[in-house]
Amino acid sequence: MPNKRLIAASNRLPVTVTVDEVGFSFKTSPGGLVTALSALQSEFELVWIGWPGEVDTSVVDPDEIRTQLEREYNAKPVFLSRRQLQRYYFGFSNKVLWPVLHYLPTHIDYDERDFTVYKEVNQVFADEIIAELERGNPAEDIVWVHDYQLMLVPGMVRERFPEARIGFFLHTPFPSSEVFRTLPYREDLLRGLLGASLCGFHTYSYVRHFRSAILHILGIESELNHVELDTHRLFMGAFPISIDLDRTEEVLADKEIEQDIQVVRNITHGRRMILSVDRLDYTKGVPDRLRAYKKFLARNPHLARDVVLVQIAVPSRTQIADYQQLKNNVEGIVNEITETYENQPHAPIHYIYRSLPFRRLCAFYLEADIALVTPYFDGMNLVAKEFVAVKKNKGVLILSEHAGAAHEMGEALIINPWNPDQISQALEHALNMPEAEQTRMMSAMYAKIVRNDIHHWSNAFLHELMHQDPGHEHVQGKPEVLSTARRSEIVQAFKSAQSPLLLLDYDGTLVEITNLPMNARPNQELIDLLGQLIALPRVQTGVVTGRSREDLRGWLGHLGLVFSCEHGLWIKWPEESDWHKMITEDRGNTWYTNVRDLYEQYNATTPGSFTEEKEASLAWHYRMSDPTHAQWKARELIMNLKTVLSNEPVEVISGKCVVEVRMQGVHKGNIVRRIEELGRSYDMIIAIGDDVTDEYLFQAVPPGSITIKVGKDVSHALYRVAGVPEVRRLLRELVAARK
Ligand code: UDP
Repeated sequence: MPNKRLIAASNRLPVTVTVDEVGFSFKTSPGGLVTALSALQSEFELVWIGWPGEVDTSVVDPDEIRTQLEREYNAKPVFLSRRQLQRYYFGFSNKVLWPVLHYLPTHIDYDERDFTVYKEVNQVFADEIIAELERGNPAEDIVWVHDYQLMLVPGMVRERFPEARIGFFLHTPFPSSEVFRTLPYREDLLRGLLGASLCGFHTYSYVRHFRSAILHILGIESELNHVELDTHRLFMGAFPISIDLDRTEEVLADKEIEQDIQVVRNITHGRRMILSVDRLDYTKGVPDRLRAYKKFLARNPHLARDVVLVQIAVPSRTQIADYQQLKNNVEGIVNEITETYENQPHAPIHYIYRSLPFRRLCAFYLEADIALVTPYFDGMNLVAKEFVAVKKNKGVLILSEHAGAAHEMGEALIINPWNPDQISQALEHALNMPEAEQTRMMSAMYAKIVRNDIHHWSNAFLHELMHQDPGHEHVQGKPEVLSTARRSEIVQAFKSAQSPLLLLDYDGTLVEITNLPMNARPNQELIDLLGQLIALPRVQTGVVTGRSREDLRGWLGHLGLVFSCEHGLWIKWPEESDWHKMITEDRGNTWYTNVRDLYEQYNATTPGSFTEEKEASLAWHYRMSDPTHAQWKARELIMNLKTVLSNEPVEVISGKCVVEVRMQGVHKGNIVRRIEELGRSYDMIIAIGDDVTDEYLFQAVPPGSITIKVGKDVSHALYRVAGVPEVRRLLRELVAARK
């Protein structure tokens, strides 16, 4: 047995449990995903986690089912209660996520209790994965989570195992961030996905939308194929799923398919067949397609006896009201068409409302002249690929531009599913298409399917997941993560130091960054914590900030801290009665006025941005602006500033959502100069900060000082921590050590 394990989690297990009077039995459901993963069993031991279908646990013993599923299929069942199924699956997954991911938020039916249960069930899945990793080897095993029902799971597993390799694949579209942001709890969902090591989507458009969503909703910038997170590096990529070509070939070679073909011919009666196959879902565009077909018939009455549209509709989510309504709607249009042509020997439409075995479906594909695939939005659409795989070099595929498949199969007749005229014209075109043209189109698409079948898909995804660099290592110029062991060494050193000094940045270090600088007041917890630090004998604590003296005096003035304000322009030790100004030159008004005027222009063209005027500097803030637009404006502003200020004694600094112009010689490193001027001496300095402006401090402190960067960026600091909570935790530990 291979020693590496692949732990796959999906909403459904590939095995369904059926309970009857005599006990329980298992039925496997062979899908593409199951085939793909099963084929990897020479490389991995495959463990599958998922829901085994509704099981009445008052009739059968779930432990017995669990034991048997584990023994026979290496599968771990996640049993769901009625309430969980209703709220997690039918509720949040299918009445909220599904419509939004498919650009149809009007179908949302939201009950806020549903998200609580979604989270609860995701935690159950995560716990099963965690238990498997604990049993195995978390550094070697691979986790692969599937689809929108389990979006929180990667984050939950990452929390427990920071080093785990976690893949996530989304089988639906990822919509434009403008649509994604309509989701309640969108932040939690994105953070869940960010827990993965690799997020896979069907197309590059979905990757682009995901990047835009994390930027606009969480403010996280990313590169084309990865995001640097505080905890790890997340990769993103397009992995278009495909079909199991071997299975299709097997079915086509099966002699019994002749009987299925006969059944199909009894429906077509020698007419040319247009075939549509869909789960009956409102994303598939069935009513508009049928109306377009009606229009086509009205425009081409001479064809009404010669063609038949076979619509296979597979029952789906029948408990949800929108799906019941869709069924009625579709049946109404089918009846209208049938009635319009009731004088013909055979109706030009044939409607089948059930799921067909794959061999029968292949017989339909074989006999069809045209596949009409017109979803409003579809992650991929495998029917389109199956049609091409079966027909190989004949037939015509009409395909919605909004199906993921259209990204790969550009040779098809691509249509907009909302345009009935276009669908009707495409049908006319397809029915008249010469065979040579059909062959040219179909064989080009067939060649792509041969190259990229389902095995190619799973291999490509897993290869990327296993071979990418997780970003846990120490990179040149990047501070080392402050490990538990190193943290306690620092705390010990602090405990025995004679006269330690703490130099702490304020925004982003002691308090979370807020949209408006005035909102970042210290809360009582912070005031108490700083008070405890001040009370420690022989310990001195300072706040080193870009903020004005007024802010600090008002918020923390009573505590007895050392202050360095306006990036080291004003410094004051608690026992001094006056502030000391670190530069003597006059600021002069020319550059200040020029910069203020220039900022005004940018405020006018960048909604949400504003100017902060300080004594020796001017800051342009854009935290509340659209990030894409504002980043572009900030780059442009910096170029303009450099031109305008080329001969001025100032520096242009670009920080987190801020561009600042300040006088030369004004920076956070000044506090070290002031320590020397005052003749003070400290045997241990700990400096903590999150922004580029703190780099001056990190560089100025004497060798041997402990410098800590908050966040993931490149820095001169020795160590890094993830955020404000970690800083406060360290400070609490320092207090405790000297008490
Ligand atoms: N299918 C089937 N029997 C049917 C109709 C469809 O087995 O009667 C299968 C079909 O072969 C295809 C899948 O259902 O593999 C539909 O996948 P698709 O990506 O087109 O749509 P989804 O249902 O995933 O939204």
